[in-house]
Amino acid sequence: MRGLYLEHGNLTFRTDLPEPPARPGWTRVRVTLAGICATDQALAKGYLGFTGVPGHEFVGVALDGRLRGRRVVGEINAGCGTCARCQAGDSRHCAERTVLGIVGQPGAFAEILSLPDRNLLAVPDEIDDVAATFTEPLAAALHLQTELGDRAPDRALVIGDGKLGILCAWALARLGHRVTMAGRHPERRALLPPSTAFATGLLETDRPAASVAPFPLAVDASGNPAVLPAVLPLLQPRGLVVLKTTTERPVTADLALVVIHELRIVGSRCGRFAPALAALAQHAVPVERLVAARYPLADGLTAFRHASSRGTLKVLLDLGSP
Ligand SMILES: [Zn+2]
Ligand SMILES: [Zn+2]
Repeated sequence: MRGLYLEHGNLTFRTDLPEPPARPGWTRVRVTLAGICATDQALAKGYLGFTGVPGHEFVGVALDGRLRGRRVVGEINAGCGTCARCQAGDSRHCAERTVLGIVGQPGAFAEILSLPDRNLLAVPDEIDDVAATFTEPLAAALHLQTELGDRAPDRALVIGDGKLGILCAWALARLGHRVTMAGRHPERRALLPPSTAFATGLLETDRPAASVAPFPLAVDASGNPAVLPAVLPLLQPRGLVVLKTTTERPVTADLALVVIHELRIVGSRCGRFAPALAALAQHAVPVERLVAARYPLADGLTAFRHASSRGTLKVLLDLGSP
């Protein structure tokens, strides 16, 4: 089959990739449309040493199993199925897991992928293919709610006006928070929830800190190791920092403020798909506005180049066209 293949940091388009075999408990999916995400670009630069077909944001059609013939999306962590976490219905932290197109498992930038049956969800008719490819990143953004617990809606700072940061702003706005976006692209205001305040220069470390009332909550979706030390002074006592992105380099920060103000810093990765599909079916988040371009699979290398050019939002790979 045709697909993109990554080896030693070198991405190629191939026509000789083996199709995933039929496997009990797993469903093969013919991929229709897939999204290139920052993680894919990091993998292409050597992150996690991944070899194989990258890609984890997709919509496709199930080729076997109980959803055969239906449009599907799939949660990307494939657990062992037998440990306590998997038995409880959540393989996101299974110690034996593989992750679609990221760890130990071929991904969505090829014509056919395979995932455990239990990972797949049917896509409601109200959601078109473009919107459905945003299920995975939107699920990650909506997963913020898990860390917020029963905190009352309040002011919230989101750092990073890339795709994930924008989706986090929508997730928080849906929960009733008043969001301030610390970003570098004021023109992206149009992509944010209408009530969002936009702040440039809030985290620039080379000039005096902008005067701003401290926040009870900050979400870092910047992927930038300089952000955490800059954001700590912007938190209220007992404030919460949620880290949504990994950074290429380790973070160096003076944690005295964490002790003095009793701040909490938590990490947050993948979310469940059902709440994301519900939000997309209600057209609650205008994800299609985030699409910058759409390329056929055969132009995948050009698509990757486009995705990594500065200021580009979502680039899609069309696997349905020849
Ligand atoms: Zn991703
Ligand atoms: Zn397991």
